[in-house]
Amino acid sequence: MSTPALKIYNTLTRTKEEFRPIDPAHVRMYVCGPTVYDYAHIGNARPLIVFDVLFRLLRHLYGDEHVAYVRNITDVDDKINARAFERGISIRELTDETNKVFQQDVKALGCLEPTVQPRATEHIAQMVAIIERLISSGHAYAADGHVLFDVPSMPNYGRLSRRSLDEMMAGARVDVAPYKRGDMDFVLWKPSKENEPGWDSPWGRGRPGWHIECSAMSWAHLGETFDIHGGGIDLVFPHHENEIAQSCCAFGRDVMANYWMHNGFLQVEGEKMSKSLGNFVTIHELLHTEKFGGRKWPGVVLRYAMLTTHYRQPIDWTVERLKVSLKHLSDMYDRTRNAEMSAPPNERVIRALCDDLNTHEAIVALGKLVGDASREAKQSGELLATCSFLGLDLEELDPKKMIARETQIHIKRRIDDRLAARASKNWAESDRIRDELAAMGVILKDHKDGATTWEVKR
Ligand SMILES: [Zn+2]
Repeated sequence: MSTPALKIYNTLTRTKEEFRPIDPAHVRMYVCGPTVYDYAHIGNARPLIVFDVLFRLLRHLYGDEHVAYVRNITDVDDKINARAFERGISIRELTDETNKVFQQDVKALGCLEPTVQPRATEHIAQMVAIIERLISSGHAYAADGHVLFDVPSMPNYGRLSRRSLDEMMAGARVDVAPYKRGDMDFVLWKPSKENEPGWDSPWGRGRPGWHIECSAMSWAHLGETFDIHGGGIDLVFPHHENEIAQSCCAFGRDVMANYWMHNGFLQVEGEKMSKSLGNFVTIHELLHTEKFGGRKWPGVVLRYAMLTTHYRQPIDWTVERLKVSLKHLSDMYDRTRNAEMSAPPNERVIRALCDDLNTHEAIVALGKLVGDASREAKQSGELLATCSFLGLDLEELDPKKMIARETQIHIKRRIDDRLAARASKNWAESDRIRDELAAMGVILKDHKDGATTWEVKR
């Protein structure tokens, strides 16, 4: 079977299109990354996982060396400034600390590192350069220390979100800011007070608006136009619409990216996630605490659970979904325990992913492989290779690894106690310890050389 063509749903055209990169030797993708002021929640995990799968698929189709994936880090923003001020630390200290946790989270979710993870504060010069171009071409104006994008100056503004300017004006809250010419005009640069982070610019000491960051970082790392731009569906308007406005007007181009991909919303147990509802779930909590469903969840379970729904559909994040995912993955772990990884990944899985990243179908195909793997060793190897391709590390399902470290230490201590009892021929005590561990689901194996090892009963 030959590899099928990749088709992706393009928000720009609202149709599924065949993917044709500008340069197959340099396929370029940009995804809006996190604002690092607090732990990332499980809704943030969705684009991380979805676009990681796409990155893996593009590498499979075009070669590892021919795909560039840029995911930015927003490290200056009013929320960041406020939080750093509260804690009496610099924004760099706060964002370094938060970014460190974020990087651990995404790694635990099985995501490859993007090619570049640019930081906004390291691209101020490019932002200033774009703003200067916009001013000189009549698409932006400076007023009262601010620089604003002049929305009516761009005839096809609203193309991505399919909103007309009149509609947007009708929906806009009346903004009384005196420096604005039009209600829809948005901020490219704003002045900073003495105690706020700021950079010198032709318009005084200030800081960038949020949208300009992505135009600057995608330009710096991928060029004026590139292939794929991704993010959550909530970013279509105004964030992505404004990125397009800035980049197209600054560079005199019709498009910023040829394909725009957006993942759907995530709910938790049927409700919108919010801090006030108390159902705000962070990736860190799922991995390291027992707050959700009374247990810690391995990253591979979170990843698998996310992939069971097609990326454009809304997803309901439930404990039940995690339990089912854990069960499926444990089956796969059992089937592949003694398997040798054999390349390449399963054809049906690749085919499903080539159809607008249909991970739901890919998981169904994986399920079929599990059935086959119980019969044939070759299939076990293919199952292992396919899981690895999808970023599903089955080793995390090793029952021993899922037991808390403290419990493991306790088990080892009791095994030593038992060995001591046996050495003094206290068989009753030896049996008692064996039974005590068996009650915990731990099976002991005594070896000829006198050593004792343990396993978890399934
Ligand atoms: Zn962005």
